[in-house]
Amino acid sequence: MKTFSKLPSQNENSSLIVCPLCGEHKFKALWSVETSVFVKCPKCKLVYQNPQPLAIDVIDRYDETYFKYEIENEKSFLNLILLGLKDIKFDFNPVSSNHGNILDIGCATGLFLEYMKKNGWNTFGVEVCESAGNYANNIRGLDVFIGTIENAPYKDHFFDVIHLSHVIEHITDITLFLESISRVLKPGGVVYCTTPNISGFQAKLFKGKWRSAIPDHMILFSIKTIKKAFRDRGFYMEKHKTWGGLCANSGYPKLIKTVLDKTSKIFGFGDVVIIKALKPTNYST
Ligand SMILES: [Zn+2]
Repeated sequence: MKTFSKLPSQNENSSLIVCPLCGEHKFKALWSVETSVFVKCPKCKLVYQNPQPLAIDVIDRYDETYFKYEIENEKSFLNLILLGLKDIKFDFNPVSSNHGNILDIGCATGLFLEYMKKNGWNTFGVEVCESAGNYANNIRGLDVFIGTIENAPYKDHFFDVIHLSHVIEHITDITLFLESISRVLKPGGVVYCTTPNISGFQAKLFKGKWRSAIPDHMILFSIKTIKKAFRDRGFYMEKHKTWGGLCANSGYPKLIKTVLDKTSKIFGFGDVVIIKALKPTNYST
């Protein structure tokens, strides 16, 4: 499946930044992709875009084209989300999972939330694309805040579960983003976060031509760096799973793809990673 990617417009502004994970100011150029440059932090090994576009310009990219892309692909995306959650043994029963307030950040057209609502969850969404958020609210009857989690009007410690599918790699300020998540999550609540895995096999094979090395991704996490991002903010990393050995259109024989898909899941070098991060009950930062 093709990842949504839009080339930055001429009007966008960007600036040099320090490492978003550890604050280190030195970096080493890694890949040039279109007009974007991915660099690596020598200290924590995070790969991120530098210079980086401003958040306001990044948000502007999620326009009508993005909405159409989401509508066309929503069923495939839902299937992938459900597969990932099943892989990590997500409990779809809201009663046994705690009390059932779930927030989907980057919920797009809301198909996942609609599915969860039918399963008995109290569903809420956050979406920066206005058309997608309106669709979720008006057509699906959901409760989606159009904007960012940093500006969303939720009460502190409200959610039992927060779900992020292919969102965190688009965020410019992950400190503020994770603090906002932590604020609205109950102590004992969990975050399920899916993101491309730069420590996986495909990234090592394709390097700068890797399908996730695109101008829309501000950060390309490895299993280590995504865990560090959550741990540094007081989360406990319960587990992770990876999947995807080769993508369908990679040009390699089907047998190789089948073998790599299976082994990547077993040995953890898949193209995408999902983590389960727990906010401890004695959380205090
Ligand atoms: Zn760093």
